[in-house]
Amino acid sequence: MLNISILGSTGSIGTQTLEIVDYYKDEINVVAITGNNNIDLLEEQIEKYNPKVCAVMNEDNYKLLKNRLNSKTKLLCGMEGLKEAASIDEADIVLTAISGMIGLEPTIEAIKNKKKIALANKETLVTGGSIIKKLANKYNVDILPVDSEHSAIFQCLQGYSYNDVKKILLTASGGPFFGKSTEYLENVSVDEALKHPNWSMGKKITVDSSTLMNKGLEMIEAYWLFDVTSRNIEVIIHPESIIHSAVEFKDTSIIAQMGLPDMKLPIQYALFYPERKENNLKSLNLFEIESLNFHKPDTSTFKCLDLAYKAISIGGTMPTVLNAANEIAVEKFLSKKIKFLDIGNYIETLMEQHSPFEVNSLEDILYVKKWTEKKFTELI
Ligand code: NAD
Ligand code: MG
Repeated sequence: MLNISILGSTGSIGTQTLEIVDYYKDEINVVAITGNNNIDLLEEQIEKYNPKVCAVMNEDNYKLLKNRLNSKTKLLCGMEGLKEAASIDEADIVLTAISGMIGLEPTIEAIKNKKKIALANKETLVTGGSIIKKLANKYNVDILPVDSEHSAIFQCLQGYSYNDVKKILLTASGGPFFGKSTEYLENVSVDEALKHPNWSMGKKITVDSSTLMNKGLEMIEAYWLFDVTSRNIEVIIHPESIIHSAVEFKDTSIIAQMGLPDMKLPIQYALFYPERKENNLKSLNLFEIESLNFHKPDTSTFKCLDLAYKAISIGGTMPTVLNAANEIAVEKFLSKKIKFLDIGNYIETLMEQHSPFEVNSLEDILYVKKWTEKKFTELI
C-alpha cells in the first residue's frame, strides 16, 4: 500500500491525483489532504477518503469546516497545519500540488521528514531550488517530477546519466496567444487568457501559459531537476502537445516522450516510479494526429520567457524575484487591476531594481518575497 499526502487536493492536479487513487484503490491510501478555499470539496474528500489529517490554510474556512465536520479526521489550520500534513508519519510520498511559492515550506518539511516528493508545484523549485536540492541530497530523498515536460525528460533519461546529455528540448503549446502580436495582446481579456488550447488547469498556471512564463518557470525547474545549464535547455513551441519534451544525447540521438495531453499519466508515473502500470487512459493514435509542428518562441512579444533565462543566469535571489513578482502580477491581472502586457513589464522593472544575493536559507527567500511585494505596491 502506498500512503500518500496530497498538498492541494482540491485543485486541478489534486483532484486528478484522487482519480488515480480511485482507479488503484487497493494500492493507494490517502493519509493527508490540504486545501484553502473550497471547503465543500474538502468535506467530500474527507468523507470519501478518511484521511488521518486535513489542513485548511485559510483560518476562517478552517473554522467553518470544523463546525461542519463529524469525522475522525484531524483538522489542522494554516502553515503549521500544511507542514504537519506534509510530514505526517504515515505518508510514504507527498504530492505537492499547491499553486505558488506558498508550497515551499511544506515541501521543505516533507523532505526533512524523508518523504518522497512527487513535485507538481514548480514555483517551489523556481524560488527555492538551491535549498531544496541541498536538503534532498542531505536527506536522500527522491524528487519525482509531475509536470508533464519534466516527467517526459525524466522518462527519456532512464538508463542514462546526466553526463550523456547534450541538451533538453522543452516543448510548449504556445498557449492561446501563439502567433499574436504585441498590438493584439495590448487589450486581451482575462477570459481569453484562460482559454488554453490543450490543457485544463488551475487559473494561475493557465495565465502563465498564455504569457510563456510557465515555460520560463519550467526551464528553471529543469535546471534544478536535471543538472543542466540553462543554455542547454531549448524551448520549442509545439502546438499539438503530443511530444511532452525530449532529450538530445551527446551522440545526437534524440529521445522524446509522447502521449495525449493528460496529466494523469505523469502523476501516475511519479507515484509508481519506476513501475509502469496499466490504466484506463486513451492511447495516442498517430494517424489521427497526422502532423506535428515546431516553432521558435517569439520572445520579443512574450518577454517573460527571456526574463526567466535572465533570472537563472544571474542566479541567487533573482529567480525568487521573478517568481514572486509573477505571482502578484498574475493575481492582479486575474482581478483586472492590470493589463496582460503589464505582467512582463512589472516583473522586468522589479528585476532591474533588485540587487541579488546568494540564497542560503528559507529566511532569505521569505525576505526577498516581502521585498518584492513591497516594491510591487510602490509601483502600482
Ligand atoms: P489549482 O489552482 O487548480 O489548485 C491549487 C491548489 O492549491 C488547491 O488545492 C488550493 O486549495 C491550494 N492553494 C492555493 N492557494 C493556496 C494557499 N495560499 N495556501 C494553501 N493552499 C493553497 O492549481 P493546479 O493547476 O492544480 O496547479 C498546482 C501546481 O501544479 C502549480 O504549481 C502548477 O504550476 C503545477 N502544475 C499544474 C498542472 C495542471 O495541469 N494543472 C500541470 C503541471 C504543473
Ligand atoms: Mg508543464
